[in-house]
Amino acid sequence: MSTTIKRIGVLTSGGDAPGMNAAVRAVVRSAAFYKVECVAIYQGYQGLIDNKVKVMNARGVNNIINKGGTVLKSARCLEFRTPDGRKKAFETIQKHNIDGLVVIGGDGTFTGAMIFQSEFNVPVMGIPGTIDNDIFGTTHTIGYDTALNTVIEAIDKIRDTAISHNRLFFVEVMGRDAGHIALNAGIGAGAEEVLIPEEDMGLDRLLESLKRSEKSGKSSSIVVIAEGDKSGKNVFEIAEYVEKNLPYYDVRVSVLGHMQRGGSPSCFDRVLASRMGVFAVESLLNGKSNMMVGLKNEEMILSPFEKAIKGKSEINKDLIRVSDILTI
Ligand code: ATP
Repeated sequence: MSTTIKRIGVLTSGGDAPGMNAAVRAVVRSAAFYKVECVAIYQGYQGLIDNKVKVMNARGVNNIINKGGTVLKSARCLEFRTPDGRKKAFETIQKHNIDGLVVIGGDGTFTGAMIFQSEFNVPVMGIPGTIDNDIFGTTHTIGYDTALNTVIEAIDKIRDTAISHNRLFFVEVMGRDAGHIALNAGIGAGAEEVLIPEEDMGLDRLLESLKRSEKSGKSSSIVVIAEGDKSGKNVFEIAEYVEKNLPYYDVRVSVLGHMQRGGSPSCFDRVLASRMGVFAVESLLNGKSNMMVGLKNEEMILSPFEKAIKGKSEINKDLIRVSDILTI
């Protein structure tokens, strides 16, 4: 291990995701393991600008592995997008003798980190924490598995009431640019149709499918829609369109919203976050910087921030095929 890094700062930024605490814990504990000091920065980049910094030892992260949200808080910080804001952030870095940073967040967080690194040459390592799973360079982001399980549980409950009243439910899930949650939860919850940003299913095809569904004797149906569905219509507009064209359906809409971000992280997310936290610290201490840790084929890998930001995490086309077959 390199000896140049004596003090690491850790922060969570962007949208919160279950498992971020497990990642913070892993960063703090592995820093302690390698006898490197660790400081927590509160409220993401805003805390760096406002000097919200606290020394953390291994015991400071007791009992957080099971907690949702982020104990370090998160923020969307406009000031960090300006050179002045980043200069203030660097002053905090200097004041606390921080010589390496671990940032936990999404692609916006990594964009900020990359710019900061290029301006002030502070070594930075990124950990992908976002429920959307929309980051290139890792098959899974922290929080995605928990969000999927939350969505499945919610849809199972919605199905109970849908069946009891012979209703058609449109369930909107998170995913402005990515359909990972919608597609996987759709298959997992046995949805009749799934609408995602990556594929233009077309509303006519949806009508045809629902007509077929009704003719085949299904008395209730669930359609899962990602926020950013390609049709350009929101879930209420789609529901209205279907109701107008297929009046025999008793249509309801359910928007799952922010509950998808919360809750105790799944075991998968806790283990993933733990591995990523350890690997991020080890990589920093080994002189790596400007990179994001990721999971690929069960192994920890590194990808340059630039690739992680610009690359697209593609939807698995086979899942679309499976979903189509099973909704017969
Ligand atoms: P999520 O995927 O959950 O939205 P994210 O990390 O992409 O997470 P953002 O709000 O896009 O969330 O970014 C987090 C923070 O990163 C921003 O609030 C801002 O402080 C910083 N950031 C984002 N883009 C830039 C940029 N171009 N320049 C400097 N800082 C940036």
